[in-house]
Amino acid sequence: LFNQVQELKGNIRVMCRVRPVFNGEEGHAAKLKYPDTDKESKELEVLGKEEKSSLGNVTRKAHSFSFDRVFGPESNNEEVFGEISQLVQSALDGYNVCIFCYGQTGSGKTHTMSSSDGMIPRATHQIYETATNLQEKGWTYTMEGSFVEVYNEEIHDLLGNSKDFDKKKHEVRHDEHKKQTIVTGLRSVPLDSPNAVESILKQADANRSVAATKSNERSSRSHSVFMLKLVGRNSVTNETSEGTLNLVDLAGSERLKQSGAEGDRMKETQNINKSLSCLGDVIGALGQGKDGGHVPYRNSKQLTYLLQYSLGGNSKTLMFVMASPLEAHLSETLTSLKFATKVHNT
Ligand code: ADP
Ligand code: MG
Repeated sequence: LFNQVQELKGNIRVMCRVRPVFNGEEGHAAKLKYPDTDKESKELEVLGKEEKSSLGNVTRKAHSFSFDRVFGPESNNEEVFGEISQLVQSALDGYNVCIFCYGQTGSGKTHTMSSSDGMIPRATHQIYETATNLQEKGWTYTMEGSFVEVYNEEIHDLLGNSKDFDKKKHEVRHDEHKKQTIVTGLRSVPLDSPNAVESILKQADANRSVAATKSNERSSRSHSVFMLKLVGRNSVTNETSEGTLNLVDLAGSERLKQSGAEGDRMKETQNINKSLSCLGDVIGALGQGKDGGHVPYRNSKQLTYLLQYSLGGNSKTLMFVMASPLEAHLSETLTSLKFATKVHNT
């Protein structure tokens, strides 16, 4: 039933999550109105920067947003996962599922997606458990995970040997016939025990910390993509299924002009901006039913090309837009929420 409902609603959904105000940030909060935690709200109101009217009154413009779901600052990862668990599950039914976290650095993307309590381990555990239960009905699944970082339009293997992390080059190739994406030389790890994901996350962290010694801002300037490939076969009915689950922690969405970048840093930032806006264009084009027609996948060589077969056709896409509650981040937050609204309305 869930899949049928999804079909009717279209295959792109957008949810918003507002992170809490931390100790030391009190007094710096923006004026956001989000839902009570116990209500399944879809609305968010943000009061813009103070403006002086011609009569000298100080006002704030109210910006209203509406998404498939809005999570307030008291929400936890368990609650967030509850809202996506059926979507995750549909990868076992043969769908290509893509879930993104979008937002500026510090807004909570990694906490939501890649932390030890986040969507990656939760989704992986659930899939492992469900696949195990489906054995009773004759299903056997092979499940393989890979994890890459897209940095400066280059692909790095987060599960590879830490020694080669920065050196080894990987290419994205498409098998047009099988509609499959192949990344050359990539390590994939079988998901053959409930704890397999812990060692995957550990290896990824080890590789990230190698990279961080060279550039400690690298994590906010790279996209990381966790890919789980699920191939199932039913020995009773002879049915087969092939699905993928892609969980994507995107680079910080902050604008170029704010970072005062030069040289290499400028190039990096341009690559990030380009790949994020390209992703938005791709999602937008797909939402308008252009799948099969021209979808601008190749505008950013790596990220969208990597995800091409997971974004079109038989796919389900969800974007989390992460919002910071701080006044200092207000204009970036509004920019993110407007981008997400564009995606939501496609
Ligand atoms: P991003 O990946 O978008 O740069 P992070 O996920 O690293 O942001 O979040 C910044 C900091 O805020 C981290 O220390 C993270 O643990 C914390 N944080 C983010 N969201 C939440 C949340 N919903 N609840 C508690 N802590 C959070
Ligand atoms: Mg992060």
